Amino acid sequence: MKKSKIIYAIVFLLFITSCYFVYVEKNIVQVSFKGSSLIFISGHIADTFTNIPDGIIVMDKSTGKIKWVGEKNRIEILPENFYLESKGVIYPGFIDSHNHPSYNFLKRWRPDEVFQNRYEWSRKKDYKELMVGRKTFTRSGDLMLVAEKYAELKALISGTTMIQGCSLRSGLKTLVRNMDHYNRVVDDHITTSIFPLQPRELKRAPSIVHKIESGQSKYHLVHLGEGIDESSKEEFYTLKENGLIRPGLVIIHGTAFDKEEFDIMAENNIGLVWSPMSNYVLYGTGTKADIAKQCGLTISLAPDWSITGSDNMLDEFKFAWEVNLKQFNGFFTEKDLFDMMTWNPAKITGFEEYIGALKPGMEADIVIYSKKDSNPYKNLLHCNLTDVNLVMIKAEPFYGEIEYLERFGKKEDYEILAINKDIKKAIDVTDPSLEENVPDSEMRLYEMMDTLIKAYPETLPLADGVGLYQNKKVLP
Ligand SMILES: [Zn+2]
Repeated sequence: MKKSKIIYAIVFLLFITSCYFVYVEKNIVQVSFKGSSLIFISGHIADTFTNIPDGIIVMDKSTGKIKWVGEKNRIEILPENFYLESKGVIYPGFIDSHNHPSYNFLKRWRPDEVFQNRYEWSRKKDYKELMVGRKTFTRSGDLMLVAEKYAELKALISGTTMIQGCSLRSGLKTLVRNMDHYNRVVDDHITTSIFPLQPRELKRAPSIVHKIESGQSKYHLVHLGEGIDESSKEEFYTLKENGLIRPGLVIIHGTAFDKEEFDIMAENNIGLVWSPMSNYVLYGTGTKADIAKQCGLTISLAPDWSITGSDNMLDEFKFAWEVNLKQFNGFFTEKDLFDMMTWNPAKITGFEEYIGALKPGMEADIVIYSKKDSNPYKNLLHCNLTDVNLVMIKAEPFYGEIEYLERFGKKEDYEILAINKDIKKAIDVTDPSLEENVPDSEMRLYEMMDTLIKAYPETLPLADGVGLYQNKKVLP
């Protein structure tokens, strides 16, 4: 064959294939769904696995699950569909894997010294004085329930849809999911230990191992190595001698650990929870998260508590980013930190089949933030609480723009929050999805705040600059 003929043949072939692609492009299968329980929301969709600038998520209110996620041009929206057009970024709800909700109404504590380990600061006079305010609460189950519900709302307004560390009070079945109990998707499979080195706790070791091996529970979360001295590091080896450094363990803090400990954790598939803000306030430094990642650990990011840590996941994310720049020379990307708030915590605590990403069949827990950057992960660095447009749990809206909650028919239920005085958002703390009778499930936010302030006048606001807007005033 002549050279010119070959060229003609190639050109012809290219023409045919491009026609084929145009044909396929024009004939993309259009999906459409019918059903009054479906909710369609458009926006930039981003999770650990997906980044769709012009996408749509379809959720089913009757199941509380995600039905479909994809490009907007692949789905046909029928006139009967409930459709909300958002200009924001739709993320999976954040998972807070380390908190102490029953303390989060207390004042902040910023000691003017740093400590060697957790036992040092907890003996300080200032700290003990701070805890006096909690005594009234520990004596009253009703007050404690309100304090923990209030902590859920602190978490909710930044987009957190699951929080760790709650007590076993049935009133917590509503609102934000609780990792330890009332996760609202699967039987409880987590046990925790805040003081694993106490003799009584060490005695529990064989039964914890037995529970994990027999499948009665899946994960045991321990607060470990919180400090910067040798004794904090030694805690790791004490647990090892007791057979607890094994698959199924999740370590919160690990502030004192180095490569040796992280390597053993990696061998045993042990997850790490990093709480930089609280660590910096108390110890002047934090967990070596960069080394932990290099050793192959899956790391999640969480605020610890608002006393010495952040009020919410967004603040902790921003703090972690600063640490990343200053201490780790930019070792992590924005997406790495984003994964630490969504997929990673789901994975290390056994919820990855249900939450932590936006996939069909998973629970419809989402947060929508304003879009201020085309990179959805970087976007969060530019956002603050005024940019939270909508938070949904199990396809049920709890918080967001007033017009959104009204479109969802929440007019009767919502209360108004003022953020930085003049930005108003709607919050609905009552939960219609529960059939059974849950104590205080009808309690409004103003009642919660009233109860808390009466018992503890210095109750911390939901976040700095955030208050309940009532009778043209902002509380507290
Ligand atoms: Zn803690």
